[in-house]
Amino acid sequence: MAVMNAAVDVVVAGGGPAGCATALACARHGLEVLLVDRARFPRDKACGEGLLPSGVAALAQLGLLAEVRRDAQRIEGLGFAIDADGGPAAFARFPDGGDEPAYGLGVRRLRFDAQLVAAVRAQPTATVLEGVDATALLRDASGAVDGLVTDVGPIRARAVVAADGLRSRLRELLGLQRPTARGGHDRVGLRGHLRVAALPFGASVRVLVGRDLEYYLTPVATDEVQLAILGTRRAFFRAALSAVSFAEHLREHPRLGPLLAGATAIDRPLGAGPFRQRVARVFTDGALLVGDAAGYVDAITGEGIGAALRQGLAAGEVLATAVATAGRSSRAPLQAAALAPYAQAHAAITRDGDRLTELVLWLARHPRLARRAIASLSHRPQVMQRLLRVQAGAPLSSVPLLDWARLVIP
Ligand SMILES: Cc1cc2nc3c(=O)[nH]c(=O)nc-3n(C[C@H](O)[C@H](O)[C@H](O)COP(=O)(O)OP(=O)(O)OC[C@H]3O[C@@H](n4cnc5c(N)ncnc54)[C@H](O)[C@@H]3O)c2cc1C
Repeated sequence: MAVMNAAVDVVVAGGGPAGCATALACARHGLEVLLVDRARFPRDKACGEGLLPSGVAALAQLGLLAEVRRDAQRIEGLGFAIDADGGPAAFARFPDGGDEPAYGLGVRRLRFDAQLVAAVRAQPTATVLEGVDATALLRDASGAVDGLVTDVGPIRARAVVAADGLRSRLRELLGLQRPTARGGHDRVGLRGHLRVAALPFGASVRVLVGRDLEYYLTPVATDEVQLAILGTRRAFFRAALSAVSFAEHLREHPRLGPLLAGATAIDRPLGAGPFRQRVARVFTDGALLVGDAAGYVDAITGEGIGAALRQGLAAGEVLATAVATAGRSSRAPLQAAALAPYAQAHAAITRDGDRLTELVLWLARHPRLARRAIASLSHRPQVMQRLLRVQAGAPLSSVPLLDWARLVIP
């Protein structure tokens, strides 16, 4: 590719849900936006592929729901069970949430992300460059970020959006990464797709909670299931579980083996992690962090795609306002003060969902309590619905204290 030397309003690094939603929102506000991704689409991505109702609502806001829904599997609810012994199982349908659609979608990332990128490319003020790696930042004399260095040349911009995923290089270069404790307790994930004669749990996501590992079954078509396995590095090591032993692990699993007998693996399992990524802030002079790059807790509650879409929408709003306020003709980087409203929007999108994720992680570390919670939820679907509402964006305070007590008191 010819070496370029471009100047735009906003340059976005990363064409996953976060980057695409940001670029779409910017372009719809008339901003000139350039999106680069080091991959070429369609590209795959390790993910559980369950888009929760709040993510479906974000897709509707982006005007992409009808197109995505055509190729996706509708999901009506979520269930939890203890994996080994056919013990307690709890299931709830996704709760109606006013205007929010009460269903989720199983989205095959290979297809879904390519649809998002195509939607960005279709915008008159947007350009997409695939196979282009963002390698460094450009800064002006004051130190404010004013562009990206890529392997096809520099791109000057009034704002850089780092949407480069869980292991974001730009977050590090921006100096916004905070250290996290590492070691065998890092949680990671591994996933693969299986062709099945019939969906084992119909149109719902099912989570089997084991002693060390959790198994997520998400239908992504009428004959295809995505199985994602989550746990600590140490647990994967103990189970001798890797991409190579994935199929054998399933075959020998006491519950999944019989459940998925006859299923065939249709791709190479992909892994990702460590999940927990912390940031000092989500904005600085001339730059924003969006999606997984803006910090992540864990995939255990599965709302990453929806959160990334919603953060992208919020980032686009803030960038459009900041450009309009500073004046369209200026080329100066957008100052941190103008980008600060994004931090509030980001916190509103992620705060309570992250707290719920921490609670579920805590239960996962205490198998006896997890079993008790699932047993309790199995005959109290209305409590589970209230928790699912938090996952969909309702405040944690909307769950009555008694519900919390019921989770651990038999
Ligand atoms: C095992 C697992 C299971 C999960 N299950 C679910 C689930 O069921 N539901 C759910 O909602 N979420 C789930 N998630 C989380 C979800 O996958 C993420 O939250 C979501 O993909 C975040 O989107 P993003 O756009 O921030 O990042 P990504 O989707 O990771 O996109 C980042 C993009 O940046 C590009 N990139 C990276 N570096 C550069 C660079 N230097 N230059 C240019 N481009 C670059 C990459 O190629 C990629 O396309 C799961 C995650 C894992 C790992």
